[in-house]
Amino acid sequence: MFGLRALQETQEHTHSFYAASVNTTTAYPSLTGDQRADVVVVGGGFSGVNTALELAERGFDVALVEANRIGWGATGRNGGQVIGGIGHTPERFKKAIGEAGIRDIYQMGIEARDVIRERVERYNIQCDLKWGYCDVALKPRHMKQFAEWQAFEKEIGNPHPYTLLDREEIKTYVNSDRYLGGLHNTANGHLHPLNLCIGEAQALSALGGAIYEQSRVIAIEPGALPVVRTEAGSITAKTIVLAGNAYMGGLVPKLSKRVLPSASSVIATAPLTRELAQRILPGDVAVCDPRTALDYFRLSADQRLLFGGLSNYTGMEPKNLKGVMHKKMTQVFPELENTAIDYAWSGWIGIGINRMPQLGQLSDNIHYIQAYSGHGVAPTHMMARVTAEKIAGESIRFEAMANIPHMAFPGGPLLGRAILAVGMTYYKALDLL
Ligand SMILES: Cc1cc2nc3c(=O)[nH]c(=O)nc-3n(C[C@H](O)[C@H](O)[C@H](O)COP(=O)(O)OP(=O)(O)OC[C@H]3O[C@@H](n4cnc5c(N)ncnc54)[C@H](O)[C@@H]3O)c2cc1C
Repeated sequence: MFGLRALQETQEHTHSFYAASVNTTTAYPSLTGDQRADVVVVGGGFSGVNTALELAERGFDVALVEANRIGWGATGRNGGQVIGGIGHTPERFKKAIGEAGIRDIYQMGIEARDVIRERVERYNIQCDLKWGYCDVALKPRHMKQFAEWQAFEKEIGNPHPYTLLDREEIKTYVNSDRYLGGLHNTANGHLHPLNLCIGEAQALSALGGAIYEQSRVIAIEPGALPVVRTEAGSITAKTIVLAGNAYMGGLVPKLSKRVLPSASSVIATAPLTRELAQRILPGDVAVCDPRTALDYFRLSADQRLLFGGLSNYTGMEPKNLKGVMHKKMTQVFPELENTAIDYAWSGWIGIGINRMPQLGQLSDNIHYIQAYSGHGVAPTHMMARVTAEKIAGESIRFEAMANIPHMAFPGGPLLGRAILAVGMTYYKALDLL
């Protein structure tokens, strides 16, 4: 398509700042022969690794099968922004989940970040976790929206204060003339997502979980003891969890019809001088604006600006990715005009029509987790926990999520992309008002 190109993928990590700054590379074996486990998890991103880890912590014998490398998908490529909340406005599903379900989902939205905090502390994972976050306003109506969010967080019992900032005050966190104000909190934050995921996989391995990399699952055989098959091996288990999200392709058509892979992109500048980094982001916070195709940015531990954006429903990225992202970045921070861009990469987010994570069961013993619609660093950890709870016999929180109705994109991926593009053009147009 004009101006766009397909993402260039191999079985190794994409060329990103994260892949270039991992604490350790992973080299788990490929799956060979016929193995057995209590639970086999397909997909080694945050959803899969954390489901396996939660289960291993509860004493299950777990195996994890990843087509490429641990954290290879969206998990190892994202903006690293740790943001609370699960999906959007669960009130829409009151009929299906009741008041109690709505309440549970809001509480899970608070707990999601705590799961990460606990993991990092318990397993001593070095992933540059830092708390502090600002929503930034481009329009007066965004400030109105932030005031509502502030009141709402209080109402649902979020223990962290949310502070409204005017045009001058926001500059103590985000020093750009672009913003009319903001909403600051220390409930959210940022981290190095690939190092977090690799650390979580190491914790899983230390608890006895088996991990297989470069082992794409090509078939699922349902039954009393379901089986996953790769080219060179198989695992027979009591339970399967499918966590391949936007990268699972056509393995289970019922699931792939409900999730549309959409490309988002990130650039990492060369390390900034300490003075420049402190001048542009004095609060060292993670930042998002509230648009549908939002800008999101933050500093890395070595003082690079990591600037993300775009949401391309074709699943492709601009041919001139660095140029496109550089323009977006300098609209926010003009003084970075001549700053070198060291890395530019893209990844797939799994979009669902109703923008709620999709959790459920294909049968009694086959579970799935997918579709965070671009907001998954913290929610994956929470959805992994409730899936593990369900497998361990405690299903209340799982049911709250699983009872939410989800639709397939009409007409499959091709028509689905077109329909979503039209819908999103409408929302992007609203952003301009
Ligand atoms: C560029 C970008 C920026 C983002 N920024 C943010 C952000 O700042 N904050 C935020 O909250 N969210 C963000 N997100 C979203 C977030 O990264 C995702 O929601 C989250 O990582 C999803 O994790 P996952 O484990 O479900 O999926 P993934 O991380 O995509 O993992 C799926 C894994 O399954 C494997 N797999 C697929 N099929 C098979 C198979 N058949 N056999 C074996 N393995 C298989 C894949 O190889 C892959 O490793 C961003 C996403 C992108 C792409």
